[in-house]
Amino acid sequence: MRKMRLRKIFALVGAVTVLGGCVLLYLVLDLTLIPSANHAPLTRESHSSNTKWGKQFESSLEKLEGDIKRNQNKVQEIKEAIDTISELVHINTDLKDAENEVQAADDRTCPAPTVADVLMLDLYNSIPFDNPDGGVWKQGWNIEYNKQQWGPKRKLKVFLIPHSHNDPGWLKTFEDYYHSQTKAILTNLIAKLSEDSRRKFIWAEVSYLMLWWSEQNDQNKEKLRQLVQSGQLEIVTGGWVMNDEANAHFWAVVQQLTEGHEWLMQHLGVRPKHAWAIDPFGHSATEAYILKKSRMEFSLIQRVHYSVKKRLAQDKGLEFRWRQGWSGPSTDMLTHMMPFYSYDVPHTCGPDPKVCCQFDFKRLPGYGVTCPWRISPQQITDDNVRQRAELLLDQYRKKAQLYRTNALLVPLGDDFRYDHSAEWDAQFNNYQALFDHMNSRHDLYVEAKFATLADYFNALKAETGGEKNLPSLTGDFFTYADRDDHYWSGYFTSRPYYKRLDRVLIGYLRAAEVLFSLAWGHGKSEDNKGVTQWLTSPHAGLRTKLDMARQANALFQHHDGVTGTAKDHVMRDYGNKMIKAIDAAQHVIQMSTQYLLYHQLNPQLDPNDIYFHLDDTRPRTGALSKRNKITFGEGLATRKIVLFNSLNRARTEFVKLRVAQYNVKVSDYDGQSVPSQVQPLFDEMASMVDGEYELIFIVTVPPFSLSTYLISWTSSVEEQVPLASVSLANHQGQHRLHSAEGFEQIGSLPEGQDIKVTSQQLSAVFSNHGLLRSVTVQGLTIPVKLEFVQYGARKGGERSGAYLFLPDGPAKIVTTRQAPLVRVISGPVATQIEVQLPFVLHTATIYNCSGEVGGSIEIVNLVELVDGNNIEIAMRFSSDIESGDTYFTDLNAFQMIERRRQLSKLPLQAHYFPMSSMGFIEDSGVRLSLVSGQPLGAASLQTGQFEVMQDRRLGQDDNRGLNQGVQDNHPTPNVFRLLLERKSCQSDHWPRASLAAHLSHQSLLMPLVHLIAAGDPLVPLKPSFTPNSKSECGLHVLNLRTSWLKVRPRAGLVVHQLSWDECLPPPPGLQCAPEMSSLVNVSSVLPGFFGAKMKKASLTFLHEAEEVSTLHAQPVCPNELAAFLLG
Ligand SMILES: [Zn+2]
Repeated sequence: MRKMRLRKIFALVGAVTVLGGCVLLYLVLDLTLIPSANHAPLTRESHSSNTKWGKQFESSLEKLEGDIKRNQNKVQEIKEAIDTISELVHINTDLKDAENEVQAADDRTCPAPTVADVLMLDLYNSIPFDNPDGGVWKQGWNIEYNKQQWGPKRKLKVFLIPHSHNDPGWLKTFEDYYHSQTKAILTNLIAKLSEDSRRKFIWAEVSYLMLWWSEQNDQNKEKLRQLVQSGQLEIVTGGWVMNDEANAHFWAVVQQLTEGHEWLMQHLGVRPKHAWAIDPFGHSATEAYILKKSRMEFSLIQRVHYSVKKRLAQDKGLEFRWRQGWSGPSTDMLTHMMPFYSYDVPHTCGPDPKVCCQFDFKRLPGYGVTCPWRISPQQITDDNVRQRAELLLDQYRKKAQLYRTNALLVPLGDDFRYDHSAEWDAQFNNYQALFDHMNSRHDLYVEAKFATLADYFNALKAETGGEKNLPSLTGDFFTYADRDDHYWSGYFTSRPYYKRLDRVLIGYLRAAEVLFSLAWGHGKSEDNKGVTQWLTSPHAGLRTKLDMARQANALFQHHDGVTGTAKDHVMRDYGNKMIKAIDAAQHVIQMSTQYLLYHQLNPQLDPNDIYFHLDDTRPRTGALSKRNKITFGEGLATRKIVLFNSLNRARTEFVKLRVAQYNVKVSDYDGQSVPSQVQPLFDEMASMVDGEYELIFIVTVPPFSLSTYLISWTSSVEEQVPLASVSLANHQGQHRLHSAEGFEQIGSLPEGQDIKVTSQQLSAVFSNHGLLRSVTVQGLTIPVKLEFVQYGARKGGERSGAYLFLPDGPAKIVTTRQAPLVRVISGPVATQIEVQLPFVLHTATIYNCSGEVGGSIEIVNLVELVDGNNIEIAMRFSSDIESGDTYFTDLNAFQMIERRRQLSKLPLQAHYFPMSSMGFIEDSGVRLSLVSGQPLGAASLQTGQFEVMQDRRLGQDDNRGLNQGVQDNHPTPNVFRLLLERKSCQSDHWPRASLAAHLSHQSLLMPLVHLIAAGDPLVPLKPSFTPNSKSECGLHVLNLRTSWLKVRPRAGLVVHQLSWDECLPPPPGLQCAPEMSSLVNVSSVLPGFFGAKMKKASLTFLHEAEEVSTLHAQPVCPNELAAFLLG
């Protein structure tokens, strides 16, 4: 450590010497700030150390080192900014602006994380999780209050918020729910709210509003608009759906929110400000951040572990400023957590459900719904109003004891409520009578009324000691338990086929968004200015296809969609919609490709033509991807393949194609051959397919580019792509042996002998059973044992289902009676080891190339859990990494979060967390990261271990309303990249992925798109489209989305400033500069054809700032998202 500090100081001095005078001055000024750092907010490290002098000194040293490191980073940033400035030096005004931006991007813009008042990780350590019986509030305590706390000037202000929770698919499909219930709810809504201006309502799901709107006459549309404008109806969150927060990728969360927000702006002219998430099964800090960046001011959450709720309630901490672990107060999201078991009426008026149920007037005798506590509601009359009002107020007063202010939020609703007009009358008339009585009584000191979230939030702000004095909190609310040891960690994995399909769709939809935007931007440039383009014309139909794909992807983010918790036929419906969406996105991609590669600007293409086949189709839900066989014949000796790189960085990747012949050659468009190999395909374990082979080659594609490669049949042995060798282990005659032409020689591996694979970047040893044993990187060998393990479901009344994971004990290792047959396929580009185990065809591939692809081991598990009962299969890595009780998983692929094992007080299933894209374990010297191509549940149940669930098959319902088990399993290809990296220092800051892990995640989620030319070969096409964009590792273009929000198309750019742990060095041979920055220069991120002006925008583009030049470097701090509108 000592040496490193010195080295850093030398580097700093060196950098200063190189830089100009003004920078030196800046730095000196900044260094003088270091002593005052003691007054700065405490860092996480200094906060958690004890108060002894030694610790303080050490902490000061760490702080100093951190400051020096930040200065070093800043020098780099300044250097970059100056590079940018010097490029633009001929434009005086821009130079001045850029200097200003450099000034802006100092430590005040990107502060170090500050410690929040409540750290969830610490809170978990201190909660006993003992679950005592709390009386009427079973999971809490007997709440008492002193009436003296209210008076004429301190009234209790009750905000009763009527709502109806409409799942866009669960027991019925989205459309079935609409026709059977939601349509009537919305139609009644406009009629019943219009009757009395005191009535209020909130609505969350824009997907349903869209369907309803499409069927309404102008009069009803106008009524809805008026209700929104008058504030009687508030649209809350405004997402297409109320998205899942565990499995959803943040790309899709932003997408579904944007889809809803754009619709609202276009049709109702409204920008939502308050968020409402009562049903997602656990809550993520990433969601809070996305809401914040979309300019939400207040957010409500509900499904949180009952013990966490109790503790926060005891501390009056149910309202807090939710802060990102990597940030200061700038990311604080004001959050209200509901205190009780559920969002239904019995659990929202106060602590006693048997009392609250009596105030759900849908349960009045005769309506068909009753109270399980066997005391029915009573119609409010002059005779009983006094007694009923006092009974209800008692509950309100008790609930108010859990919060800091005199404003009280009380929801009034449930699933698909208010579908009959009689229910509207029953609820609104009875409550109005109760409120009239309460408000007229001068001895009660209460003001109760119907309200929206906005009404409550405004009151909270106005309260003395209101929002500003609420505690800050860092962390998340996984894993959710609603009672006893019922942890909802099953849905992190349920229906993995659909979870994988979600990520495939994201890959295509994002590629379609980016390529369409590039084609449109390119087309509108130069001589084509102002001319309506074919591409965006209704005739082309591409916007319709994009909209359809966007909506299908948005719909599936619903908390019964990507969670895998809907009925079988509803899952199939989501699957059909996603497969159609993939087709639509692929169509947009191939049209845009033809448009960009055409010689003529703005060509008029045939909208129904297929110019390119995308090498990945799914004939139906449940099917695996089908790939084209590339054939050669008369006049087709050479086939053209176009690759699209949707990333803003040059990337080195492998391409896998099916070819009809083994004697082929592959080259780029200039005739340069590329590293490649041909290998056989198998239809059974030892039987090769005739007349079909796999061609693998390695390519490097520039940012945002289309590149053409040529594949030809050849008789020349010198030109031919090398053939891989094939060997089998443990072949004892039990499998039919058949070799394809070209692969007649099949080797045999000696019994019991390990398999060793060496590539440019690593070497790995596999057991004779085809499973990983150890990995050697940079001279260090790390034992890593891969196994598959199996959980059962515990017996009794409560058993595992779609939501719950209730195992019957620790997992058992999946074993085979005899050694399984293993295939080893090895060539110059890749070595692949395949083994068929019970439930899983497991393939590990090591690519012999530079960059992140060559630095990891690719794992594909084709999981087939198509029979059996109550089985859950996990892949487990066991290593000698001294990870102790600590492990890390991600939140929505946006950030990493620390997890701690506490098996002494929490059950096994509480240790499973959502792994949306990656997880890792580490010690001082090594980190093991598993990057995942689909969301699944993951845990570390022993030091050195990390496991991820692959699929689950369960024979029963778990009593959460679904009323069925999970037995519709489909063969599912789960994809991973395993990274073992040496650490060169001790990680500081917040937990972060390595750069290699970030890039591996991009590689899995946003793969190169393979287009096989299908159009007329006589129509000449340009071989490539390479816009002038800087290849950046540090800045990731999350999306480039064409927006029609203001009728004419504009390009909506969303960037993510990546931040990674620098103790893990970047992989060698990257095609982009591995530098972190806190500036974004849009003019170098995007090609110039989008124009020279842009507007900074909120994340969903509803709020726009002043127009500025794209040459302005914009401050965007590490880890942050930022959005811009161009054109
Ligand atoms: Zn729901």
